[in-house]
Order: sequence, then structure tokens, then C-alpha cells
Amino acid sequence: MIVMKFGGSSVANAERIRHVAGIVKTQLERKPVLVLSAMGDTTDYLLEAANDAYKQGGVSVSRIEELHLTAVKDLNLPDQVRKDIEPLIEELRSLLSGISLIRELTPRTRDYLVSFGERLSVRIAAAYFSTVGINARAFDAWDLGFVSDSGYTAAELVKECWELIPEKILPLVENGVLPVVTGFIAKDANNNITTLGRGGSDLSATMIAAACKAEEAQVWKDVDGILTADPRLVPRAKPVEMVTYEAAAELAYFGAQVLHPRAMQPCMKTGTPVLVKNSYNPAAPGTRIVSVLEKKISPIQALTSRKNVTLVDIVSTRMLGQYGFLAEVFSCFAKHGLSVDMVATSEVSVSLTLDAVYDLTALQKDLSRIASVEIKTGKAIVTIIGNVRRSSEILARAFRICELLGVTVQMVSQGASKVNISFIVDDSEAAEVLKALHGDFFEIKV
Ligand code: ASP
Ligand code: MG
Repeated sequence: MIVMKFGGSSVANAERIRHVAGIVKTQLERKPVLVLSAMGDTTDYLLEAANDAYKQGGVSVSRIEELHLTAVKDLNLPDQVRKDIEPLIEELRSLLSGISLIRELTPRTRDYLVSFGERLSVRIAAAYFSTVGINARAFDAWDLGFVSDSGYTAAELVKECWELIPEKILPLVENGVLPVVTGFIAKDANNNITTLGRGGSDLSATMIAAACKAEEAQVWKDVDGILTADPRLVPRAKPVEMVTYEAAAELAYFGAQVLHPRAMQPCMKTGTPVLVKNSYNPAAPGTRIVSVLEKKISPIQALTSRKNVTLVDIVSTRMLGQYGFLAEVFSCFAKHGLSVDMVATSEVSVSLTLDAVYDLTALQKDLSRIASVEIKTGKAIVTIIGNVRRSSEILARAFRICELLGVTVQMVSQGASKVNISFIVDDSEAAEVLKALHGDFFEIKV
């Protein structure tokens, strides 16, 4: 079997749902299980409706109702489908009325409320698939073994899911049913609805794939896969053929928002490949995320950058070899609630980077007891995701390019991660560096 996950924009309206059916039909003999997100921007609409009820006392489901009923109509679905989803919309309306009356919106209620998006989308899609000859059935994730803790708005699946999910899903698949499952949602031990965090449908899909030992998890997006760089910065960016789970997780962290880093975890455990495909361009090969890169490919897979970074240089004013210096420095950052990204140290100094959003005056004052501190704003982190076992080659090529551009590298870190080399340049230089690196690593055939 395989798992196919389609995100909100892939099921945004009747036309997109028809298109998805077409894609699914080409893979029926591989026994797919489908995981769907809410249609289009439904999750955002639901959160807006909740805020409106909570703050202004407004109760409006019209936008959500219209989107879904229009799809039912445009897909020419039998009247029974409208009758099936109307109670859900009614329940949603009651919930919003409740919120507007008591003016209370707890995380638990929020999760209950946003769950309607996925519950509506699977019912409509499965009903349509049935009309085109696919033996599809809609399921709420909790009926297929999705149990989570009670960490509302970002719940974690419990480990029993590894047995519960295949117990429920495999018999269905063996009986020729194509389950269409809600992504994103689960229930806790007390039967309360939870969500796995924004973008959580990816995790629902990879969890099913890993637990059921599927051949692969396909994640259908609206881009041609993971790209070698941000196309807004590097117009020649192209899809990466293959990356490791670790590299994909780093990419998600550094801003290439293709998959949630957490979504990689289940498949990483079992070695189940994750394939990122474009539902708008199914012919494109997409990106394959695997545990080891099978063939000899480029030493690097992708480039990312993050702007608006502040560099803090801290030089100890105490004696060389003084112990506890780093501990003190880091506890200062912790005390002020500052999250550090990159770190490089020498015997008496440490350089750190953080997002420019923080006010560092209090920190600077605190640190000045033990060190002299210099704060430099307007920096960018350039990150190379690649095979760090080839770091000498990667660094030589990267720094040679910086040299040719007259760009000074201000800090370097090749950390514990086996996939990421990062360095700091001025904000104003980042785009140029990125383009030149891309040209060298991806555009020139050697
Ligand atoms: N519908 C949810 C969201 O928009 C979950 C998902 O799309 O993965 O965050
Ligand atoms: Mg969504």
C-alpha cells in the first residue's frame, strides 16, 4: 500500500478535487490510503470565526458553509451528501454560539472547532470519488487509531498508534476500500478532539505510512518538490531529486516550508520513503526523502538563507581557561528568554546569532559583568544543506566564491548536524552569495 496526502490547496474546490481523483486513479493498484487537509483556507476561516465569536460575539459560518456546499453542488453529488455534512455545519454553528455566549476560547475548544475543516473535506472528497468508481470511504482519524496526548493545538500522537492504526487500516485496504482520512486531528484518552499543530496533516500521513509499513508516503503540494533554493532569491532554483530525512528537517527549519520537521519522524524510524509531489504538475518527478542517498549526487542538496539576524560577539574579560564561562553566557540568554541559532566558540570568546526581533539591552548589561559584548545587526545566515562528509570540498568552493565576490565570512558553524554548514555574511550580500553558490553547485555541469 501507499499513503497519498493532499494539502488544502490541492482540495481547494470542486475542480481541484476532480483533479485529485484523477491522480488517485492512476495509482489504484498500489492500494492507496488518502489523507486530506481542510479545503483551501478553511482552517484559517475557522480560526477567524472563532476569534470573531470570542471577541465580538459574532456567529458566522457563511463563508465555510458556502465553500463546502458549492463544492457539493459543483461536483454534482447526491443530495444525501449535503444532508450528511449539514449536521456538521450546524454543530459548528452551535459551538460558535457557545463561544460567543460565554466569551471563552480555550485551546481545547479551538481544536474541536478547527477539526470541522478536515471532517468536511474528507466527506465531500470520498463522496465524489465514489461517483467516479473509486470504492472510497471517509473516516475521522480517531476512528482509525489516532490517539494523542492532551497537548491541545500541538498534540503528540501516543506510541500505541503504531499498533492501533494498522489494526484499523490494513483490513480496510485488504477489502478493497480506499480510506479517505482526516489529517491534522486526533482524540485524547478522554475523547476530546486534538490537533497536531498547523500543517499537521503531513504528520498524519507519514504516521500511517510508517505504522502500516507502506511502500511510500506521497505528500502532494503545490510546488515541484523541495527546491534547491528559494526561487524568489534564486530564479534558477530547481527541484532536488533526493534528500535525507535529516536534510529535509533542516530545510523545514531554515524556512523552506515544504514539510513540517516533525512530519519526518515516523518515516525516519522505519525508513519509509517520503515523496514530495506537485498536484498541479503530477508529471514532475518530485523530491524523494530517504535515509541514505542512493547514488552519487552533488555534494550539496540545497541552499537557504535567513535575513535579519543579529550577531553577538562576547569576549571573556576573565582569565584564560576560566571554567563556567559558557554556562554563564548561556544562562544569561535563557534568563532573558532569547533563543540562539548559531554558536561558535574559542577559548575566550563566543559568537552567537539570534533573530533581530529581540531587544538586547538588558542582556548586554547582564553580560558586561563577565565579558565585553559587541552586537552587530543586519546579518544573514547562509546555510548549505549537503553531505558534511564532503565538507572540505563544500567549504573550499563556498569560501572561494565569497572571496571572488569580495564578501567577508563573519562566522562559520558546522555543527552536530551531519547535513548543515552555516555561515554569516552581511544581509546586503546574502542574495548575491546565494545566487553565486547556486550557480557553482547546481548550474555548472562538471
Ligand atoms: N488544515 C490544517 C492547517 O491548515 C492542517 C494541514 O493543512 O496540514 O494547518
Ligand atoms: Mg491547510
